[in-house]
Amino acid sequence: MGELYIDGEWTQAAAGGRRDVVNPYDASLVTTVDEADATDVDRAVRAARRAFAEEDWADLPTRRRADLLLRVHDLLLRDREDIARTETLDTGKTLAEARIDVEDVANAFRYYAELAGKDGGRVVDVAPDVLSRVVYQPVGVCALIAPWNYPLLQASWKVAPALAAGNTFVLKPSETTPLTTIMMIRLIEEAGAPPGVANLVLGSGATVGAALTRHPDVDLVSFTGGLNTGRAIMAAAAAEGPRNIALELGGKNPNIVFADADFDAAVDYALDAAFLHSGQVCSAGSRLLVEDSLHDRFVEAYAERARAIRLGNGMEDGIESGPLSSAEHREKVEGYIALGKKEGARLVTGGTRPDDPALSRGFFLLPTIFADCDRSMRIVQEEVFGPVVTVERFRTEDEAVELANDTRYGLAGGVWTSEASRAQRVAQRLRHGTVWINDFHPYVPQAEWGGFGRSGVGRELGPTGLREYQEAKHIYQNL
Ligand code: NAD
Repeated sequence: MGELYIDGEWTQAAAGGRRDVVNPYDASLVTTVDEADATDVDRAVRAARRAFAEEDWADLPTRRRADLLLRVHDLLLRDREDIARTETLDTGKTLAEARIDVEDVANAFRYYAELAGKDGGRVVDVAPDVLSRVVYQPVGVCALIAPWNYPLLQASWKVAPALAAGNTFVLKPSETTPLTTIMMIRLIEEAGAPPGVANLVLGSGATVGAALTRHPDVDLVSFTGGLNTGRAIMAAAAAEGPRNIALELGGKNPNIVFADADFDAAVDYALDAAFLHSGQVCSAGSRLLVEDSLHDRFVEAYAERARAIRLGNGMEDGIESGPLSSAEHREKVEGYIALGKKEGARLVTGGTRPDDPALSRGFFLLPTIFADCDRSMRIVQEEVFGPVVTVERFRTEDEAVELANDTRYGLAGGVWTSEASRAQRVAQRLRHGTVWINDFHPYVPQAEWGGFGRSGVGRELGPTGLREYQEAKHIYQNL
């Protein structure tokens, strides 16, 4: 029995490939899993196509699909501790954070179970002797590709609405973090999904991901990952003819602190904004904009608290941040730290690996703060995806907004002020998909998630997150 799930069977990669899964905390081997290739992708897509055509999944009363999603929700909660521990082993994130992830994954399944039952389409008023209605139907076979930073969470934001809408899918997690996705697919099987409705392939982006996005029998590609991969996926998906596409890409997210903000809260949340999961968060508040009159005091307190962040094994109580995901990724982030210095940013704290010998085998980096930054620097404009934050000064509200919008991305942003009208005004003007006021990071399944600009195409979560997996059909009848 292997770790690929195709047409209702757990199966091995046809060519016998295997891949190591490594714990980023100490570089130890956690396990090995199957490594698929294009042949396995083809088998999986054909299974999904067969199921879409032959199983009565798409035509089931919506309530029955919703019931399956609710069973998955319950099973996720039954196994939550196991899943959270596995996520920590695989990603290095703290167990506390992984536990929240699993709850959020379960909530996504429950939300789409509830929404699916409510969406009956709409009647269009044309004339008394015409019945005109718009109905929403599944798109078909979906290729779902997820990243390594929130492996299960990002996958669930695709899987739950895809199933709720009556699609079949082939899911590919990141090659570095496949373990909890395997667990979720086992739960979908246990919940009773018909064979071929849910399929899982594991392997590299270049081989398995590319084969999946190019496959001629895929109707929709939904991808979460980096900007450059998103570009490649869009081009590949277009090469096989237009098809539905949804992209959730990177971010360089401003966090604006006005001088009248609640100081302690703003400092605390700015830490979490930038250093949660070692900054490996698409919506990380990695670009701090601080009002000039507050700047020096803020940076001093911020650096002091950043130095106190406890790095270590995410499995242990009291640890606040884990390692980076891999040795290669840490090198990339170190490259950005070197670049920041070269560009003239002032290194306030961090910038190196920790000198604690207990952390020497893992892929750790100290929380790093650069001050005296300006918008022309690459370190300010590019997504570093590590524990690195840049600080810029602003003098007026207009300048704060202008700086915050001076980015090719547009995923998320934060505003800290005690003046409610200013908070709303600034939020309205920011060109970012989510704006937090006096907070950072919360999202809810009921509200859309996604980016302006180069942060993506389409939205996940909320009602729009279901629409991504539906085609609208107009039925017009002369009575
Ligand atoms: P990545 O782009 O390297 O990989 C993401 C997924 O795409 C992986 O499964 C990978 O195997 C696959 N892939 C790689 N090349 C491919 C190709 N040519 N064709 C098809 N698939 C391919 O991203 P990552 O390093 O895993 O994740 C980090 C990135 O994800 C960051 O940029 C982050 O901002 C972004 N992200 C965005 C969101 C969001 O909601 N907008 C959420 C999480 C992560």
